[in-house]
Amino acid sequence: MGENLKVVRHATCTFCGCVCDDMDLTVDVEQKRITKAENACILGKAWFREHGIEQRPFALIGGREATTEEGVEEAAQILARARFPLIYGLSDTTCEAQRVAVSMADMLGGTIDTTTSVCHGPSGIAFQGVGESTASLGEIKNRADMVVFWGGNPAEAHPRLFSRYAVTPKGMYIPNGRKDRTVVLVDVRRTLSTPVADIFVQVKPRSDFEVLWALRALVKGRKVDPSIERRTGVSLAVLEDLVARMKSCRFGAFLFGMGLTMNRGRHFNSGALLALATDLNEFTHWVAKPVRGHGNVTGADNVVSWQTGFPFGVNFSRGYPRFNPGEFTSVDLLVRGDADAALIIASDPAANFPRAAIDHLRKIPVILLDPSETYTSQIARVVFTTATYGIHAPGV
Ligand code: SF4
Repeated sequence: MGENLKVVRHATCTFCGCVCDDMDLTVDVEQKRITKAENACILGKAWFREHGIEQRPFALIGGREATTEEGVEEAAQILARARFPLIYGLSDTTCEAQRVAVSMADMLGGTIDTTTSVCHGPSGIAFQGVGESTASLGEIKNRADMVVFWGGNPAEAHPRLFSRYAVTPKGMYIPNGRKDRTVVLVDVRRTLSTPVADIFVQVKPRSDFEVLWALRALVKGRKVDPSIERRTGVSLAVLEDLVARMKSCRFGAFLFGMGLTMNRGRHFNSGALLALATDLNEFTHWVAKPVRGHGNVTGADNVVSWQTGFPFGVNFSRGYPRFNPGEFTSVDLLVRGDADAALIIASDPAANFPRAAIDHLRKIPVILLDPSETYTSQIARVVFTTATYGIHAPGV
């Protein structure tokens, strides 16, 4: 190995919600780049390749280079002048940074919202209403002998979820790995993830709630009419077989994606699945977990909940936290033209918000903290180039 190459073992990939912590990275110290990421999947490899140390100014005001002091002063003035500021993003940064962002929203009397409001927001609402019987991915790896993927395509979105946590790995109580697990996949269509399943259940689009409610009824020993098949595309025999397996496994895990939540029914769907997990706990142990996209979006939910009592879309303008999705969620705030300044942290709303929300962002002063140049950096008044969490900066 060349003198300028250094190997860092057991590093963490913070690209997706799997947060794999077994990366062996080769770093070219001179070039300030990661040249090899052993154990990373194709997405992780791209993540490490793209995050070297950029030769970009730390602070920009109006697109022009500024000193740190000037950048901080300008940003502080914007926030101090604002009457209804929005703080948004947080899913690609550390819990420490998220905590500071919450205290800023509190101090400013503003709104804090995370990318959850545009992805697993319905699940966040369902957690508030139904609760969550949950587990870490490590527990699922070591204990789950039945895994049900619902409304997601991990083979493409979370490539190591199958191999490292939920399908093939051997675990403490799963000594034979794949052979010891029953894997079920529920979706409206076949995807690259389908071949991994022992049982594929194809539901008609927009009928997840009815399938889940029928499963709940069967778990509780109620009668379900065979006409359920006409409505959902899933026969009563298949549902009965699933329930028998669910009740007789030792440790079951539902891993659900946005195919369930961003669908007719939304938080009712997530709530039905969480309630099914609760029902099954009368017979054996079941957990339910959303499969999350960003590396620390789960951290964002947890920190905002821990600090305010609510997971996202929280407003402090009355001096205490109020949670109201649809009112205090970023897209809604921006489309209505309510926010008069925005602090965006490690996310790129200008790339994925609806046009009307982006149009309003263009009209108000935006402060951006991000490691990379993004669409949002093009419309931001003040831009700070920050460290990439897990690569240049440590944290939880
Ligand atoms: S599965 Fe996710 S966390 Fe793991 S290496 Fe791939 S991108 Fe990184």
